[in-house]
Amino acid sequence: MLTVNAIAAPSATEPLVRTTIERRDLGPRDVLIEITYAGICHSDIHTVRGDWGKVPYPLTVGHEIVGHVTEVGTEVTLHAVGDRVGVGCMVDSCRECENCLAGHQQYCERGNTQTYAAVDRDGTVTQGGYSTHIVVVEDFVLRVPESIPHEAAAPLLCAGITTYSPLAHWKAGPGKKVAVVGLGGLGHMGVKIAAAMGAEVTVLSQTLSKKEEGLAFGAKHYYATGDPATFETLKNSFDLVINTVSAPIDMGAYLNLLRLDGTFVSVGAPPEPLPIQVFTLFGNRRSFAGSSIGSIAETQEMLDFCAERGIAPQVEVIGADEVNDAYERVLKSDVRFRFVIDIASLR
Ligand SMILES: [Zn+2]
Ligand SMILES: [Zn+2]
Repeated sequence: MLTVNAIAAPSATEPLVRTTIERRDLGPRDVLIEITYAGICHSDIHTVRGDWGKVPYPLTVGHEIVGHVTEVGTEVTLHAVGDRVGVGCMVDSCRECENCLAGHQQYCERGNTQTYAAVDRDGTVTQGGYSTHIVVVEDFVLRVPESIPHEAAAPLLCAGITTYSPLAHWKAGPGKKVAVVGLGGLGHMGVKIAAAMGAEVTVLSQTLSKKEEGLAFGAKHYYATGDPATFETLKNSFDLVINTVSAPIDMGAYLNLLRLDGTFVSVGAPPEPLPIQVFTLFGNRRSFAGSSIGSIAETQEMLDFCAERGIAPQVEVIGADEVNDAYERVLKSDVRFRFVIDIASLR
């Protein structure tokens, strides 16, 4: 066992604290990664505060992880010591079900093994990236191209892939009109990626306060959802709407924004069910869908795509002792656009 420095949540109501956690000894196909940066995802906050159910405290979260390989198991072939690598929201899957065999590990029928708060194959509870090291089986480790700045690479592992996957699946590209709802960590990546794919991008944000940034990220248009006129003006406009907002929204108003065969995809998840008037789907043969992160192959494709197009998240780098303040600021949407922890501050 390797004992490493980390930040952990002792309970749902206490602040995160510095501590140590254990990483397993390297198995033949495991890779030891020295972490350089870890992104702060809204899911981390929901999880540690118990919003999404029972939590095995103390828990170290973080599933936007980037670092270097410092040791490899005897049978590892995909990575070598010194490689720049990343780990996202999952660290394993059953490898046997229909979806795993088709390469869609994120949709593993037995549930993929999440990077934190999940039961690993050895029976231990997985601990995330707010720590100095992590041990992960080689095929769930991604190659991070050198041209992406280290600190900016981290958020690609969740925010990047979560928006890239539906954009690629529903074929955002030239001639397609795409709306991104919400301009936070996920939304700002959605705008950059959709624009790089060649789509005409519109941001739908509560107010116009981030308009300048949204247009700089590649959006052509920017509308305030707080203004009811927006939903009249944009009726029947979009081929694809990507919703990154976790708050409840008026589904009827948003579905009406779709043109013929348009799809509304939610990657944000309000805790309560959303009522949908099915007649709204009849009009324009509209679809309502969800999407969860991306496969390992797709995540690699996304990293390579971002490196090629020079796309990187806009981040605020913080030290380990600023994480609790950062959580409060994320909850107030006061972040431009993703917090990333400099793990050097944990050593
Ligand atoms: Zn996340
Ligand atoms: Zn499976």
